[in-house]
Amino acid sequence: MSDLYLDPILGWRAWKVVDGRLYSTVFGTLWPEQARLEATCGLGGRSSPGGLRGVHEAPYGACECGIYALKSQSRALAIARQVLPPARAAVGRVSLWGHVVETECGYRAQYAYLYDVQLLDGTAEESRTVRRRYAVDAQLFVSV
Ligand SMILES: [Zn+2]
Repeated sequence: MSDLYLDPILGWRAWKVVDGRLYSTVFGTLWPEQARLEATCGLGGRSSPGGLRGVHEAPYGACECGIYALKSQSRALAIARQVLPPARAAVGRVSLWGHVVETECGYRAQYAYLYDVQLLDGTAEESRTVRRRYAVDAQLFVSV
């Protein structure tokens, strides 16, 4: 089951950054610039975990689809630190809304929009490129 969230919730994500563009670390999905990302189910029409068949809106409770985000920055950092050069690693927050499945560690959402970005190992120039491209706050990561 998923709940419908009209007010966005914030979740943490990791990305790999190439030429100032953000890509998801798992599937390499390019994050859209100044536009929302909408989830689709890559398993539509085929047999999927749990015996689910046919096309459905993402996220679906019994499936694994949806835009993933985490509740804690530290988990996002752990994923970001697995990004391999020459790609840069970044963490940041995304707004999530629409149908959202909440799990112990995070969320799977129908819609997401970039909220802010912190580059772990980039340069100030690269963070400016991300800021320009996505029109969000983008800075170099400062450990606390
Ligand atoms: Zn699905």
